Amino acid sequence: MNVYLSVDIEGITGVVHGDMMTADGREYDRGRRLMTGDANAAIEGLVQAGATYILVNDGHGPMRNLLIEELHPAAHLLMGSGDAKPDCQLEAADSTTFDAAVFVGYHAMARTFQAIHPHTIAGAAVSELRINGRPHGETGLNAAILGSLGIPTVMVTGDATTVAEARTFLGERIETVSVKEARGRNAAICRPPAATRPEITAAAARALANRDQVQPTVPEQPWRLEIDFLTMQQCDRASRTAGIERLGPLSVLVAGDSPWQQYRNLWAGLRSALYEPAAWLA
Ligand SMILES: [Zn+2]
Repeated sequence: MNVYLSVDIEGITGVVHGDMMTADGREYDRGRRLMTGDANAAIEGLVQAGATYILVNDGHGPMRNLLIEELHPAAHLLMGSGDAKPDCQLEAADSTTFDAAVFVGYHAMARTFQAIHPHTIAGAAVSELRINGRPHGETGLNAAILGSLGIPTVMVTGDATTVAEARTFLGERIETVSVKEARGRNAAICRPPAATRPEITAAAARALANRDQVQPTVPEQPWRLEIDFLTMQQCDRASRTAGIERLGPLSVLVAGDSPWQQYRNLWAGLRSALYEPAAWLA
């Protein structure tokens, strides 16, 4: 059995602040170790349940956070910059390879209250992302894209609010582990790794063993995929990308022949939106 394991950092055990999430942060090294620890806990459970190939995609910021020296030997690690990965947090997730997907360290969608660093893909640019009019975060969106390939997402870990979001989108049959309870965007009541990691391992083993009970979740196609940006400059830049159609000062429609193509166009549009021109062009 082959499993796609997407890992982010905001929903990792003990990570509450930007200090641990960004490369220039004072405690980034601790954040990376904690991220690797939660990923390893999930990998161990997947191995116990019979996974033979596990692809771990480092999906946070520079996408070079997980420490390969400390990674579980059963895993393969997809690491490298987001600009070089046209499919971003879902790079290399093809339908013929994977039987199930697991999300570790995920965070709540943009505009969520009582969640650690809630945002949708690019917090600096995206105000809201909608599929068929419904706001989606990374959990709902990524699971929907994988679902369109026939891959069910069977487990999500993160803060309590993220876990609730995951259940709203993916149903009650998925496995979840809440590793902390946010008190605000930079503060949470946390449980230590010694408590959360065994839970993550057990949940991952159950999730894979019971994967047949979870159906892939796919919104009705074709998708109307819309994004609202925070600034008009971002919307200007994104609108020049192929597959992006402007709807208004801050909003675009993301076209594509399939959800997968729409996701690819979305990521290209966001990369343009985040592009900073040279001073003489600004
Ligand atoms: Zn992240």
